[in-house]
Amino acid sequence: MLRIPQGTTLVVGLGVSGQAICRHLARLGRPFMIADTRSNPPGLEAIKQRYPEVEVYCGPLTGLDLQEAEEVVLSPGVDPGTPGLEGLQETINPHTGEPRLVGEIALFKRAAKAPIVAITGSNAKSTVTTLVGEMAQASGTKAAVGGNLGTAALDLLADCPQAELYILELSSFQLETTPALGALCSVFLNLSEDHLDRHAGMNAYGAAKRRIFIDASSAVVNGDDPATWPEAGHAPPNISRFTRGTPGQGNQWGLGKQDGEVLLMQGQQPWIRASELGMSGEHNLLNALAALAVGEHCGFKRDAMLQVLRDFKGLRHRSQHVAKVNGAAWINDSKGTNVGATLAAIQGIGPQLNGKLILLAGGVGKGADFSPLAAPLAAYARQVLLFGRDAEQLEKALGEHIETRRMDDLPSAMQAAYELVQPGDCVLLSPACASLDQFVDYQQRGDVFCQWIENRQRLAGGPS
Ligand code: ADP
Repeated sequence: MLRIPQGTTLVVGLGVSGQAICRHLARLGRPFMIADTRSNPPGLEAIKQRYPEVEVYCGPLTGLDLQEAEEVVLSPGVDPGTPGLEGLQETINPHTGEPRLVGEIALFKRAAKAPIVAITGSNAKSTVTTLVGEMAQASGTKAAVGGNLGTAALDLLADCPQAELYILELSSFQLETTPALGALCSVFLNLSEDHLDRHAGMNAYGAAKRRIFIDASSAVVNGDDPATWPEAGHAPPNISRFTRGTPGQGNQWGLGKQDGEVLLMQGQQPWIRASELGMSGEHNLLNALAALAVGEHCGFKRDAMLQVLRDFKGLRHRSQHVAKVNGAAWINDSKGTNVGATLAAIQGIGPQLNGKLILLAGGVGKGADFSPLAAPLAAYARQVLLFGRDAEQLEKALGEHIETRRMDDLPSAMQAAYELVQPGDCVLLSPACASLDQFVDYQQRGDVFCQWIENRQRLAGGPS
């Protein structure tokens, strides 16, 4: 058994966050060791070179004696239920007053000198985090943006020491090991099935995310989704809600109609016409409402926020308009990696079409129930082309309601879509699945989609 000496911190997991934890501890001058359950984790050589004096253990965590360890800091990729970590979350570290097992965000909170905006949800985190970051910048606030998106939270502390505000995207994995965040504004956007291969069911997944509200001064929640609301007795003093319906009074944000135009409203007050927004799809109207609600809590300037909403066209791989070919749109929503995301994309895009949707879906389904996709696809789709490992499960859930076809891979599904598509239609890649069976990641899957249709246009000699 390898003993972790008294006063030493153990970092578990050598992923991107694990490496950021090591850099942070090194900056603080705290003695640490590293453990990873894989025998040869990626990044191992680089870490050994950078910290030659630091001991690195590779193997099962049950091979470690953690009795005397000062603190165990977990990377979000490591399950706190991993054998060898038993009991650590229930015992208190006398130096911090926090559990002996924490994650990177606990360390971030201790060191951060500026207020935090924290954003979670099953979907739309990156979009809303980026929007809020742009709004802060446009309002003249020096904001550092990162976390589960872009720069690891702990690296922001060193990269942006002058930050007046930290804007963090946080996953359920990061939140389950965060004791008390005390954010200026905590945001919970939506909850739908995802990561159930690691969390013990929807209740545990939702509860991990609701930790975002602990000690927060204000919150933004989804008025249409009670799973995003703080538990009674733990509610921050100041809560705004956004809804796809008409907002009530005061702190409610929603959609109204005037002279046939959809408006984004706070209470009875119109803020901006939906048609002015740079992003498309109804799901992005909700994302815009959430960002406005956060901006209001943070005191951003109204005109600056509205200009951001006009200019921001959305992130790559999220309902990204790639091409118009023969009157049909080709949209890359490769980041649609779970059922909730694909549902939002179908419902956001379907009603706006003159023609029909052709959905390209499939990959690693993570044990999800695909049946919620059946009714909207029956309403909006011409056909669903399926590829990847769990295509059969998708076919079983959808086949009775809509025409489906099994294809070998994404390019053959695109070829079939190309032959099928009609003017006014939309070919939508929103797979409702992870990509790892056939691709490196969702970015590569989206890039394959973009390149295929761009090549096809070039061959046809047409404009994009
Ligand atoms: P995250 O960082 O949470 O994965 P993203 O902003 O990257 O969120 O968006 C991921 C996917 O979520 C998009 O590709 C889209 O399919 C879906 N999505 C976008 N907005 C919403 C929304 N308001 N509700 C549900 N799903 C959404």
